[in-house]
Amino acid sequence: MQRNLILLGAPGAGKGTQAQRLAARWGIPQISTGDMLREARRQGTELGKKAQAYMDGGQLVPDEVVIGLVEERLGRPDAKDGAIFDGFPRTTPQAEALDGLLARMGRDPVKVVAIEVPEAELTLRLGGRRSCPKDNAPYHVTFNPPKVSGKCDRCGGELILRPDDRPEAIKTRFVEYQAKTAPLTDYYGRRGTLRTVDGTGELESILERITVALEGAAHG
Ligand code: AMP
Repeated sequence: MQRNLILLGAPGAGKGTQAQRLAARWGIPQISTGDMLREARRQGTELGKKAQAYMDGGQLVPDEVVIGLVEERLGRPDAKDGAIFDGFPRTTPQAEALDGLLARMGRDPVKVVAIEVPEAELTLRLGGRRSCPKDNAPYHVTFNPPKVSGKCDRCGGELILRPDDRPEAIKTRFVEYQAKTAPLTDYYGRRGTLRTVDGTGELESILERITVALEGAAHG
């Protein structure tokens, strides 16, 4: 059975954290356009350079850039049994492009889970977030600290504060989210494929809520 799942949610809702867990559990890749863009920047590719200013300011990068990345990634063999999309789609044109892509590739349609967290908590989460630039493992100074302060549990690398987790960029990300990404709940809701879960509390409980929600979600 193929599993194609989209995790929707505002910045800081826990999409990346839960996508990593689900990907490990199901043995399918997490497709995070944010991680892919950061990797392109590290490698200094043209695409990475193009994305840089948008990302650091907290704005969305142009649709065609991320759609191209996803198309290439979905075609790789490890995604044949499905994928967990985290941070994609973020606009209606991206959602339409993904529908078209899955249909063209003869793949099962997506299920969609929206993770809901109150904005005050999102702000707290993003401000304290630390990330490993090597393996993208997410941490939080208070809610999910690494075993050794400032170091990644998996690779021992230095954790960083992402430029877009600074207060000014966080504000822009919320504005972008409300204007461009929040309408996707209607897009998927209309098809009956959307389930919503409470994204507060223990990480394990949230993971279970997502799994339970998926049992009841129709393919859209
Ligand atoms: P994330 O790690 O998902 O929070 O993404 C970090 C940044 O990468 C975002 O604030 C955007 O600038 C860019 N980005 C990631 N995914 C997308 C997407 N699907 N569409 C447009 N921009 C994106």
